[in-house]
Amino acid sequence: DGKSRAHAVVKTNVKFEDIGGQERAKNELKEALDFLIYQDKIEQYGIRPLKGILLFGPPGTGKTLMAKAAADYTDSVFVVASGSEFVEMYVGVGAQRIRDLFDEAKMLAKRNKKNSAIIFIDEIDVIGGKRDGNGLKEYDQTLNQLLTEMDGMKANDHPQILVIAATNRKDLLDPALLRPGRFDRHIIVDLPDKNARKKILEIHTKSKPLATDIDLNQLSMETYGFSGAQLESVANEAAIYALRENKLEITAKHFSNAIDKVLMGEQTDREASK
Ligand code: ATP
Repeated sequence: DGKSRAHAVVKTNVKFEDIGGQERAKNELKEALDFLIYQDKIEQYGIRPLKGILLFGPPGTGKTLMAKAAADYTDSVFVVASGSEFVEMYVGVGAQRIRDLFDEAKMLAKRNKKNSAIIFIDEIDVIGGKRDGNGLKEYDQTLNQLLTEMDGMKANDHPQILVIAATNRKDLLDPALLRPGRFDRHIIVDLPDKNARKKILEIHTKSKPLATDIDLNQLSMETYGFSGAQLESVANEAAIYALRENKLEITAKHFSNAIDKVLMGEQTDREASK
């Protein structure tokens, strides 16, 4: 259907270099991706194929970016879905949607002569939450279909499919999802430390006109606890302040206002969710 097609791309054009920090996560992910790149070897040694990787950690830390970079790195087509898309679906529709996702990934890879496809499922906890036996049947069927698809994947499948799932709440996941042969690689994508924050600020100010009074090192200290997504917002808001004042360059003052604004937004979000 047209809905899922909108989420599929042949090339993501996101490189691992576009992700600031997360060195350990990037290395772990690249290592796991060798399973796709050296598929023939994996088959030859009789190694069980890698079917699923779970990326977990706080919101806005770059999990989606990682999945996109993984697709670029392995020259895979990329198909996306979010667990929240399955909310309020009628019984059976969710399971059909999962089938469609896999079919689409295979079709897109074949049509573009790619050896592999990556299916990214964001907010996996929405469909993969622990089953408590009462109600939520439509989620059960969706999850069961996902597990069925993954169990059916073989080492010699062409194209090879890898499912990458992301969650902020790994603790909520049904253990059935995490069993060997399913999402059995878990990679933490955590909040950036000071150096990582500096890298992320560098990435998001690269094409912006910065005044000479700007010290990214200083800014990385002032943004303790910020996620990558928040740092991206800071850079963007600072540029907006400069534009509003008709300044040719973004100054330190614009940045400190932007930091306040992002912090305030955070507070209003928390108030709203109370
Ligand atoms: P969520 O859990 O909320 O879905 P996420 O972990 O998937 O978030 P992304 O969607 O990958 O986070 O990040 C959102 C945006 O924040 C990115 O598009 C990027 O602009 C910025 N960003 C986040 N982390 C990084 C990073 N490590 N380096 C550079 N930019 C980042």
